[in-house]
Amino acid sequence: MKKESLLGKTIEELKNTISELKMPKYTADQIAEWIYKKRVSTFDAMTNLSKKHRELLNENFSVGIYDPSVEEKSADGTIKYLYDTQNGNNVETVFIPEEDRATLCISSQVGCKFGCTFCMTGKQGFKENLTAGEILNQIYSQPNFEFLTNIVFMGMGEPLDNIQEVLRTCEVLTSDWGLAWSPRRITISTVGVMANMTKLLDQTQCHVAISLHSPFDDERAMLMPVQKASPIKPILDMLRSYEWRGQRRLSFEYIMFDGINDTNSHLRELKILLKGLHCRVNLIRYHAIPEFSYKTTSEDKMMYFRDTLTENNIIATIRKSRGEDIEAACGMLSSQKKP
Ligand code: SF4
Repeated sequence: MKKESLLGKTIEELKNTISELKMPKYTADQIAEWIYKKRVSTFDAMTNLSKKHRELLNENFSVGIYDPSVEEKSADGTIKYLYDTQNGNNVETVFIPEEDRATLCISSQVGCKFGCTFCMTGKQGFKENLTAGEILNQIYSQPNFEFLTNIVFMGMGEPLDNIQEVLRTCEVLTSDWGLAWSPRRITISTVGVMANMTKLLDQTQCHVAISLHSPFDDERAMLMPVQKASPIKPILDMLRSYEWRGQRRLSFEYIMFDGINDTNSHLRELKILLKGLHCRVNLIRYHAIPEFSYKTTSEDKMMYFRDTLTENNIIATIRKSRGEDIEAACGMLSSQKKP
């Protein structure tokens, strides 16, 4: 049986573990420092712990920091990593370097239950929730860790469908005893699962990105079946009345599909739908996937969309496509190992 990992435990949980092992209380802080700040991957590297205590830890736990099993590099510098999970599944993570920043796109589940009709991960169905340790390992084992400026939960899975482990991950990333990152460097992207929206808003201060993709209920339900169980309008009403503090950002993701959600009536409806929300809209080029019949909206139309939204006082940007040649772009991630 695989040993439980300490990566992913909060400081309170580490303290409990330490007390169960009858080790001195202060070792919990030392272990947190070794794992979360110094990123060591073995107990033997924790040199201020006694040999006996290191042996005890080795017998009962693993640190939980391990390397990806496959790495693929795109012509544009994007790198996709495949990780093995404890249960023998695979999950992908994407490193996206830019001139002045480097973003890591991480996964929270293997596969996904939500079945968005344009997404490879959704097509695969759901396999398992990742533990906080497995989510954090995508960051802690990242070869370009030193360069990371941002983390986005936009990889495989729906973060709000694995909310406890995602919250635990955010706690490690933003606590003083953990990585001590500002939550403003982290964005959690969701299709909008009403039942867990408040937890996300209240228990983290991370930026929030909501996948919108259409302002019309029927059309959104066709693209994103979640619309039937958790419609977008009540979520928007809740977001309108929520007290947004400081620089915390709310954005909407809008993948553009040719002839489907890129018309003037969509622009008019978006303006009505987003009224009263301090937000931005990220327009995303659809990356053609042979399994699906959707087509990519032209660059000209995307620019028209962006400019018209901006004229209507909705900040809109076109997100650069990255890593399409290695299937690392938005909607293309999958947990199938290449032969
Ligand atoms: Fe799941 Fe996100 Fe893909 Fe929808 S877009 S199926 S929520 S991974």
